[in-house]
Amino acid sequence: MKRRILILFWGAVVLGCLAADFTAEGNLWWAHIQFLAGAKLEGRNTGSEGYRQAVEYVATQFERDGLKPAGTSGYLQPVKFETREVVAESSSLALVHGDEVEPLALGADASLNARARLAPALEAPLVFVGYGIRIPEAHYDELEGVNLRGKIAVYVNAAGPVKADANLTSHYSSGVERWATLHHAGAIGFIGIPNPRVQAVPGSPGAPNSPAGANGRGGRGPAQPAVVLADPSLQETEGQSVALTMTRRGADKFFARSGHTYDEILALARENRPLPKFDMNVSLRMQAVVKRDSMEAANVAGALAGSDPQLKNEYVIFSAHLDHLGPGRPGAMDNASGVASVLEVARLMKETGVKPKRSILFLTVTGEEKGELGSRYFAAYPTVPVRQIVADINLDMFLPLYPLKVLEVQGLAESSLGAQIRAAAAELGVAVQTDREPEQNRFIRSDQYSFIRRGVPSLAFKFGYEYGSPEEKIRQAWVRDRYHKAGDNLDQPVDKESAARFDRIIMGLLERVADDPARPQWNADSFFKRFAR
Ligand SMILES: [Zn+2]
Repeated sequence: MKRRILILFWGAVVLGCLAADFTAEGNLWWAHIQFLAGAKLEGRNTGSEGYRQAVEYVATQFERDGLKPAGTSGYLQPVKFETREVVAESSSLALVHGDEVEPLALGADASLNARARLAPALEAPLVFVGYGIRIPEAHYDELEGVNLRGKIAVYVNAAGPVKADANLTSHYSSGVERWATLHHAGAIGFIGIPNPRVQAVPGSPGAPNSPAGANGRGGRGPAQPAVVLADPSLQETEGQSVALTMTRRGADKFFARSGHTYDEILALARENRPLPKFDMNVSLRMQAVVKRDSMEAANVAGALAGSDPQLKNEYVIFSAHLDHLGPGRPGAMDNASGVASVLEVARLMKETGVKPKRSILFLTVTGEEKGELGSRYFAAYPTVPVRQIVADINLDMFLPLYPLKVLEVQGLAESSLGAQIRAAAAELGVAVQTDREPEQNRFIRSDQYSFIRRGVPSLAFKFGYEYGSPEEKIRQAWVRDRYHKAGDNLDQPVDKESAARFDRIIMGLLERVADDPARPQWNADSFFKRFAR
């Protein structure tokens, strides 16, 4: 009896030694963040010297971890961008009604969105189109009976009272899809009204600086020029001759002759009620001078070759965005943390000598904060054939702010990857849950969506919480005080050991997906299945 207890005791000690050392691994993970979010890299803005140094750092680590170069130029896949900046002194806006011309203050009354290919000069009537979306599957059509030919559509940047699956709603109310709908109906541009139901944090859907063309979200400060992919076929703003965001100050001027008031519209939108559609009985006159320039920044890709003679030709992508917002915003959690995990998992795979059957492509992308541009470029011009990409496991700001008890998984119910992450998390005693804030549309708001739109099943993650728990408060406080702000720095409380546990779970997930004889499939009832070819 005593002997058996002794054996059990020593067994536990041996197991303990074999198990991961989360303290040490957490410190290695943090060391990457100290470099990437350190003062020297100045917030890793796409195209900046700080970003270039971040690229060099990742490529060096990939090489050290024995990954094969998988870019177009060694580990790098250079991406060409165009920057567009409105020259305020030479640009103007006015409302025109008959002989009346009411000048608008650029910036104060409405801001021009230079992501669009703005016309140098233009005058066109305004039509209010409510929420401005159309969801055929839900028989929901805000544009029914509205004539938009040659006109400018004015809308509230929200989905409205549609009764449809959250993913369906997110998809059709994204900037790209909404514009496709409006453009198809004949509109030559749009004026967006920020969603009053969304807390106006930078980068949230409907926030004042949200660029259309991205998934309705922004993040660039007003002082920075807009950035688009240089490749015109990837710009997704085709036909946008005018793109504006209305401000609270300017709103009453726009509505003055329409027979409706901005306050009336806002009150309805705040309660998510149906909105009227009407001619606004006024035209917008615009002169826009835009300064264009070119810029380059790279994605970084390294491959761990698969061990199975057949399956090694298929790739599991493990991605994270490397860029952030530039000086004054270090981006430690957004997304140095995700890049650090990509690097840690690459190191762990080398150190533990795992031999996954499929190949694993470690990928850090540029331009996420400008509208998922680097991943969209990679998904359009993948360095391995797109049919051979079986999954994208993406990390963007997974927020290890407290112990990891439950993992929030975006895309959990969409594909066979859901069962894989459940199993991988269970191995480390962690439960999984779906998104606690589905209205934030997170599944379509980071780089995984670039892959999803090419048919690739994907997952993304956050540390989870229960409603009403202290963890929920910690996360909300973080979003309020640190998200896209100076406070997302090296001087914030982070649970490094839990981050290391998370890395081990993700490593387990990658191994499972890489070793499964079957490649991941969208669930039969998943909205995203439509993108699979
Ligand atoms: Zn961000």
